[in-house]
Amino acid sequence: MTEAKLQSTSCRVSEDTGARPEPVSEEFLASYAVRSAVSRGRRAAMPAHYFRQPFPRDRDRIIHSRAFRRLDGKTQVFLNGTGDHFRTRLTHTIEVTAIARTIARQLRLNEDLTEAIALAHDLGHTPFGHMGERVLDECLAEYGGFDHNAQSLRIVDHLEKKYPGLDGLNLSWEVRAGLIKHREQQRPCLLDGVILPPQPTLEAQVADIADDLAYYTHDVDDGCDGGLINDKALRDVTLWQMARKQAAADGAREDDQRFVPYTVRCLLDMLVGNVIANVTAELAKLSPSTSFDAQNYARRIITFTPEFQIHSQELRLFLFEHVYRHPSVMEVNGRVAQVMSNLFNHFLHDPDLMGPGTRERLSATGLHRGVADYVSGMTDGFALKLHGQYCHDACGRSEVV
Ligand code: MG
Repeated sequence: MTEAKLQSTSCRVSEDTGARPEPVSEEFLASYAVRSAVSRGRRAAMPAHYFRQPFPRDRDRIIHSRAFRRLDGKTQVFLNGTGDHFRTRLTHTIEVTAIARTIARQLRLNEDLTEAIALAHDLGHTPFGHMGERVLDECLAEYGGFDHNAQSLRIVDHLEKKYPGLDGLNLSWEVRAGLIKHREQQRPCLLDGVILPPQPTLEAQVADIADDLAYYTHDVDDGCDGGLINDKALRDVTLWQMARKQAAADGAREDDQRFVPYTVRCLLDMLVGNVIANVTAELAKLSPSTSFDAQNYARRIITFTPEFQIHSQELRLFLFEHVYRHPSVMEVNGRVAQVMSNLFNHFLHDPDLMGPGTRERLSATGLHRGVADYVSGMTDGFALKLHGQYCHDACGRSEVV
């Protein structure tokens, strides 16, 4: 056994007590970054790994989970499998993570923690995107509802089964807290009995805004690729006007097929640049001396400039109107909503047809939550397959999509 291994076996709460440096040196991290040395640790104590740090270890546990692999078969906007180039929930997650790391590095935050939160942020997504989530939320209206953020935490805390003697991935407290997106100001939000500060860590805030940046830009790209929108339709959007100016200045020609993808690239670059510049100025002004200070401000620090907040809202509304509520997307949404509803009711009435892991948990979870765990975990393809297999009579035909 190595010396590091021997030293680590007595550590109970956090497996890294600061004896070893962060992957990037301590001097590199800003005072307001989270340090793994002061982590609240894991729910189940485990010895330090002999060469891996806690947050990279969390990242690896997420990447090697079943829920992470299933993201490949889940819809982002366009139904999974309907086009070779469209984003899936997995490629969305990878883009979010890349953007988050870029921002975290520039702000001298803990990149490893940011990366782990970004990789896990959508684990709880249902098949068929937000429509699937909406249907399950209705199905669970009297049982606490369904929210993909809460489900992400549920997956990493309970549903994954791999490690001896415990359920879930046993991630660091800071990664788990970073998955709790909605904090009500009226009442305290708790994790393992610890009251969360009013704001998430800056690392979690970065993962959050990277999520927005990723979907603003790749949904424009996919919307154009799918023929729902085009450069002409986008020209009234302020951010698109700015991005296309940059694209033209860089030599992109409007009559070239590269123009739209390159303008999307300029848009992303501009948004990321705006966040970094704005937050750098904010941090210089506020100068939080610790991560805890940064979490106790009345508002989030990781934001766009006020001007870009308005512009980004304009782009978001454009996407809702022209992409998410496009008749072709709405039509598919109507059909997949029926699939989700049929599947939920089918397993509610015949829970023995669910997988063994879900059935074993039913006495603890209750029937409705257990069925939601099972159905929400499905990929689009698996949901459609089971629907064809079991729900032929329920909807009068086996192929609804
Ligand atoms: Mg997301």
